[in-house]
Amino acid sequence: MSLTARLIPILSDNYAWLLRDSVSGAIAVVDPADPEPIIAAIMAEGGRLDTILLTHHHADHVAGTDAVRARFGAKVVGAAADAHRLPRLDIAVRDGDRVHVGDAVGTVSETPGHTIGHISYYFADGGVLLPGDTLFSLGCGRLLEGTASDMFASLQGFAALPDDTLVCCGHEYTQSNAKFALHADPDNAALRARADQVAALRAAGQPTLPSRLGDEKRENPFMRAPNIAALADLRGRKDRF
Ligand SMILES: [Zn+2]
Repeated sequence: MSLTARLIPILSDNYAWLLRDSVSGAIAVVDPADPEPIIAAIMAEGGRLDTILLTHHHADHVAGTDAVRARFGAKVVGAAADAHRLPRLDIAVRDGDRVHVGDAVGTVSETPGHTIGHISYYFADGGVLLPGDTLFSLGCGRLLEGTASDMFASLQGFAALPDDTLVCCGHEYTQSNAKFALHADPDNAALRARADQVAALRAAGQPTLPSRLGDEKRENPFMRAPNIAALADLRGRKDRF
């Protein structure tokens, strides 16, 4: 297991993620929206940055990209389909493409729903999933551009990954997501226990991420939706909750 992921809290409730390949020492950062804390975290790791991985075009994910690239000279990876509205890409990727952080190899998947051009990264070596704003712990992204059908397919793609996968999402939304999840699925004992854990972590000022994909499969109502109509219904109810 060579790839490790650590969160960097930025803005009000975003997380950037710092990925480190322990074999080569290569470092990547995912969604560096706010340059100062990102640069500080990279300097604390030794001042090396090889790669910047972008999940989607929203400013609270990409705004610091050019400043961080200018500081370290890292290569920027993002969705070819969204190149026109992302910072300048050095490597434009599509579904199934591979990205490298030193010796660790990640797979790109196109995961539309929150935005049309959203992509996610999965590193089997280390079991790390970076789903951006597509999947949240106990929730999923709002359908700002894509459809419930898009989101259903994206979540089903994640569900095929191993249960011990670390889910490294783009926001600390778990506690508010837990409230809706319990409302939608009140008899789910595992969810109830998780909501208590999440409340205790937040009361102690601790992050709730990364979560485990197996827990999301058991507890996240959006991952548990059996079909597109059920997911559309849930997403609509959550938007009004
Ligand atoms: Zn977003």
